[in-house]
Amino acid sequence: MAANVRTYRERLGPRTAVWAVVKADAYGHGAVPVARAALRAGAEGLAVALAEEGVALREAGVEAPILVLGASWGRQPEWIARYGLEAAVTDLGTAERLAAAGAATGRAVRIHIKVDTGMGRVGFLWDGPVVEQVGRVLRLPGLVPAGLMTHLAQADEADPAPTRRQWERFLDVVEALRRAGIEFPRVHAANSAAGWRFPGMGADLVRLGIALYGLSPGVDGPPLRPAMTVRSAVVQVKRVGPGFAVGYGATYRTPGPTTLATIPMGYADGLRRGLSNRGAVVLHGRRAPIVGRVSMDQIVVAAPAGVDVAPGDPVVILGSEGEAAVTAEDWARWLDTIPYEVVTGISARVPRVYRVAGRLVEAGEVPAALG
Ligand SMILES: *Cc1c(COP(=O)(O)O)cnc(C)c1O
Repeated sequence: MAANVRTYRERLGPRTAVWAVVKADAYGHGAVPVARAALRAGAEGLAVALAEEGVALREAGVEAPILVLGASWGRQPEWIARYGLEAAVTDLGTAERLAAAGAATGRAVRIHIKVDTGMGRVGFLWDGPVVEQVGRVLRLPGLVPAGLMTHLAQADEADPAPTRRQWERFLDVVEALRRAGIEFPRVHAANSAAGWRFPGMGADLVRLGIALYGLSPGVDGPPLRPAMTVRSAVVQVKRVGPGFAVGYGATYRTPGPTTLATIPMGYADGLRRGLSNRGAVVLHGRRAPIVGRVSMDQIVVAAPAGVDVAPGDPVVILGSEGEAAVTAEDWARWLDTIPYEVVTGISARVPRVYRVAGRLVEAGEVPAALG
């Protein structure tokens, strides 16, 4: 992950900061250790989806700026104020709730105004009365303007035209606000894909998500190193003849003499059921197909011909070994989804172990000094 941050920093140059997006437990990688590693590699700030995620980072001792990307409701505005998080202001209601929380706690909230330039999700519409709306937000007490942002919907697609259109709309808003005397310390739009493909759109900071984890942000992607490897081991081996049924529903029958290996991972671990009779693992440096249905806690694979497999043998579920690999991109293709969903789906039951300075450590042992 550190190498991936450095790859982007070199591309973007010194005037564009990297903020590491660590929402959804850092896309399944573990928010606290990832945040520390990214900050150490030169990221200046962090972004999360929910106030709760920011609170967890603060509780772990992370002091860097943390931007909450979504709208804030319920107790979230209070947590944002109390824990010194920065917050996207997506609409007037969120601004009012944050201002009230700022007043109640006596701690002004740093806000990033979010403009919807074509994502259609949250934010003030670029073609609405945005100057008047932002003016109203900034007249509320207890809010400090920290940023102006938008989010690009198609930066990962081959056709750059929709992204350029969104960027133009965003620049129009920036300009209209400036004419009204409203400026922000930071202007930002780019995710991983835009940060690489359209360096001009990097603006003051790039919100680096998927590329931090070494997964391709779409066409013309940078050279990245996947951060996550998922490992397991064989727990039982069976040598069976033809016609042997495997798993719930007996959806697979061996075509001939086969060596079957059982692995204790299933859909409760994020090894999705859609991989039944479709996915593969890496066993002894070769791909071994998943046969039969994926169960909640186990799968069965067919050992490739000539592979001598025994209980206890290591298995790579996601990653590479020797010449063979199974990547999050492979899963995404097999499951008709995107690598984001693959890695965020690896469940909490799978223990995370981190390589820090060449040493493998548990999450709790990742040195706090990294942050
Ligand atoms: C998740 C998210 C990002 C990161 O996107 P990647 O494609 O993972 O780089 C950036 N900005 C916002 C608003 C997001 O929600």
